[in-house]
Amino acid sequence: MERIELTENQRCVLTLLQKMGPLSKGDLAERGAMGWATAVKVISQLSEQGMVDRLGTVRGDPRKKGKRAYLYGLSHDLPLAIGVDVEYRTTSMVLTNLHGDILAHATTATIAPSSDTEVWRFLAETIGSFLRDHCEGRAVHGVGIGVPMIGFLSHSQVDNLRSMRDLEITLSAQLALPVSVRDNTKSYALFEQWRNSSFESDDFIFVSIRTGIGTGVFYHGELYLGGTGLPGEIGHIQTVDSGGLPCRCGKQGCMETVVGQRNLYRAYCQEVLHDEALAQQSEQAGQEVLSEALFDLFRRARAGETGSREIVCRAADHLGRSLASAILVLDISNIIISGHFGDDGVLIEDLLRTNLSAKLLRGSSFSVRYVPFDHLGHVRGAALLVLKDFLIDIRSNHEHG
Ligand SMILES: [Zn+2]
Repeated sequence: MERIELTENQRCVLTLLQKMGPLSKGDLAERGAMGWATAVKVISQLSEQGMVDRLGTVRGDPRKKGKRAYLYGLSHDLPLAIGVDVEYRTTSMVLTNLHGDILAHATTATIAPSSDTEVWRFLAETIGSFLRDHCEGRAVHGVGIGVPMIGFLSHSQVDNLRSMRDLEITLSAQLALPVSVRDNTKSYALFEQWRNSSFESDDFIFVSIRTGIGTGVFYHGELYLGGTGLPGEIGHIQTVDSGGLPCRCGKQGCMETVVGQRNLYRAYCQEVLHDEALAQQSEQAGQEVLSEALFDLFRRARAGETGSREIVCRAADHLGRSLASAILVLDISNIIISGHFGDDGVLIEDLLRTNLSAKLLRGSSFSVRYVPFDHLGHVRGAALLVLKDFLIDIRSNHEHG
């Protein structure tokens, strides 16, 4: 299927309906700063294409005469996209639309990425069977895939951007659909921008704590991609002074080996539950098990329990070492941290603030905010890599132009 080419006005109307729908043609003309005739034409085009539905009439003043205006909203059937989130252990897939409805959802174990060919075959087969099992008879506009930054697509770790482009071309030919590949931090950031909740500032460092630590450096609202697509890899700054655990990148004692969610889970099993057998299984634990344990860890730590608090303080200390370097080098001082830590994860804000105050130049101002992960944010964000073609700049708060 070809990518649909929409006009700026069509995307503007879809964006307004996504953010504020249902709306009448009059609302759309006014809010989209377009003439009435244009609004009428665009609505009729989008209705014909099946992307917009007529939902009813505006509730007007019953004493007033004349026809009531129709209200329009986004269709639930079009456009559709598949979002794929490849995490080191689990790959999740959804079929979704501009409403963010989850029309189908599946998960599978991620293969160990032994070679590029194996990775490409895994993705083609996994997505191919999702299309057969869940999307038959539906018009899917494309596939968006979020992948880990290091150690998945590219083993040489030299050119992630080129690996992503190669994967897009190969998969697109195999699936006969447009394919868009980005790192999963970028996918999650798109999701946050789409729901317009947490990324108010244009310059910030977004730190995503899962099995790996993904970092996005946003400068003037755009994710900075660097030369190879690997900027801001603060998870691989060595913060453990001597020795330390081996890291997937081949080094030892990286920040990730302390702060990654499986490492936090292992520490929780050993130091809080005193259950060595459970700790040994930390690599096999599913996301639900990890999340539940980390919710408990942060709840206990926030309540002041010593063992739990030590683990979280240690994590904040190592995060602080990496982030202080990043802030000093980049002069970007808004930090947003996400993890599967539940609401008590907010404890990391205070600990990190104290930690950074001691490490940064005296008088530096900075902000630290924790936002718990939406548990489907990464897959929804991956789908937005495709669905954003139907919207105008999803950060720009429906300005038209
Ligand atoms: Zn590393």
